[in-house]
Amino acid sequence: MAQMWIAGEWQDSASGETYDIINPANGEKVDNAPKGNADDARRAIAAAEAALGAMAASSAEQRGLWLEKMVELVRERKQELAETLTKEQGKPIGEANTEMEHFLHGLHFYAGLASKYRGSYVPLPAKDTYGIVMKQPIGVCAGIVPWNFPITLMGTKIGPAIAAGNSIVVKPASSTPLTALKVCALLSEAGVPKGAINCISGPGGVVGEELVQNPKVRRVAFTGESATGRHIGEVCGRMLKRVTLELGGSDPMIVCDDANVEEAAKWGTIGRYYNNGQACLAVKRVFVFDSVYEEFLDKLAARVKRYKPADPLNPKTWMGPMHSRAQRDEIGEQVEDALARGAKAVVGGQKLEGAEYARGNWFAPALLTDVPDDARIVKEESFGPALPVFRVRDLDEALEKANASDYGLGSSIWTRNLGNAYKAAERIEAGNVWVNSLHYGYDEMPFGGVKASGIGREHGPEALDYYLEPKGVVLNVG
Ligand code: NDP
Repeated sequence: MAQMWIAGEWQDSASGETYDIINPANGEKVDNAPKGNADDARRAIAAAEAALGAMAASSAEQRGLWLEKMVELVRERKQELAETLTKEQGKPIGEANTEMEHFLHGLHFYAGLASKYRGSYVPLPAKDTYGIVMKQPIGVCAGIVPWNFPITLMGTKIGPAIAAGNSIVVKPASSTPLTALKVCALLSEAGVPKGAINCISGPGGVVGEELVQNPKVRRVAFTGESATGRHIGEVCGRMLKRVTLELGGSDPMIVCDDANVEEAAKWGTIGRYYNNGQACLAVKRVFVFDSVYEEFLDKLAARVKRYKPADPLNPKTWMGPMHSRAQRDEIGEQVEDALARGAKAVVGGQKLEGAEYARGNWFAPALLTDVPDDARIVKEESFGPALPVFRVRDLDEALEKANASDYGLGSSIWTRNLGNAYKAAERIEAGNVWVNSLHYGYDEMPFGGVKASGIGREHGPEALDYYLEPKGVVLNVG
């Protein structure tokens, strides 16, 4: 049975209660996880608080070395961890390995950055007086993580938190705590003070809520749904607590008449159907110029037809089950709603039935055309393997439609025309624009959203600022 990682030790929940973690591929139990409550969250917060002195006393160089050691420790167990991730999350083993690598790359990035991040010297008008901007750790941080990328999205919080000299309590999603708990224990073997990294499982409304509401937590990093994010933002606003919110998305992809259509179809397919479409930055709406519409659609359809959902532990599998029954039903309802409003399914779009799919949460990847603008799949975030493709006249129409969304996370444009690329980069209302590139969260680049997609940035040196408090110090040396 899994345990929580608190104060450098494996611990059961205070109540002794547990719950089952279910394999999305076959409905079987993977393991038990401790059902934490507010007491457990408080215990983890106290452990993180106790570690602050030792964290503050550590040098930035030391923290970089710890992070580098963490990379080494986790890499040694990567295959076993990836298998646990596949069993609890449902993603194909190849994707689970890639997720582990992305996590390690993120830690490696902050390992390198830890000792290179600087404050500044400020010339002041008063005689013999100068200023320095110190950057100090904030204190106890909380990282609240969803189930779609349980490990990389934990890394985007642990990496900068530790590099900046803070301690952290992580709360993975209730349905995917197993790999995260194992990883946090391994990270702690790198030599960080006991309690610098804690990981607790349990319901978001209880354990997560305590992390957000507890005044000892000074910084909350949340990734999840916009509705949850709004609530967390309200609480943090009231408590004047530092918060970043990485929320949902409905990313547009624009394919211009001068695009490399083959490449656009290839990366658009991966951009939508990777992780079964359960990604915040997935391509969720495609706008294609009239003159290349048919060619693009044919190429895209040919690629989508190649996905055959199958056993995610088989290394040859490209697409596994969806993470949960609720997720499968939601994308199914969004597709049905679009079809009822006159859309056409060029490919798939139904729940998979039959003996091999009798258990688990299976769905046939779908490609839709003629989807009206008021369909749910256009207006809501769609978190599954279904993609609506729209025909547009020109870039102005594409940009207008791309921006007609509550969300503003990622976006892409496919064109050989630098003017088009720049115009789109400037005008798209989104935190990220990829030109002739896959929708991908590079560790080196700031990542985050505008509008209902959130506040603040993860990744890059920019993320470190969210884990540091700038202090203005004026020195009179006269
Ligand atoms: P949720 O918002 O339901 O859950 C996210 C996390 O928050 C879980 O750990 C959950 O715990 C916890 N939680 C739930 N309620 C509370 C609360 N009241 N206080 C504190 N924590 C709480 O999102 P999903 O897990 O469904 O994740 C999918 C969403 O994440 C999608 O909308 C997706 O777009 C978004 N996402 C955004 C990304 C970005 O970077 N912008 C990246 C990846 C995903 P529990 O599981 O126990 O309910």
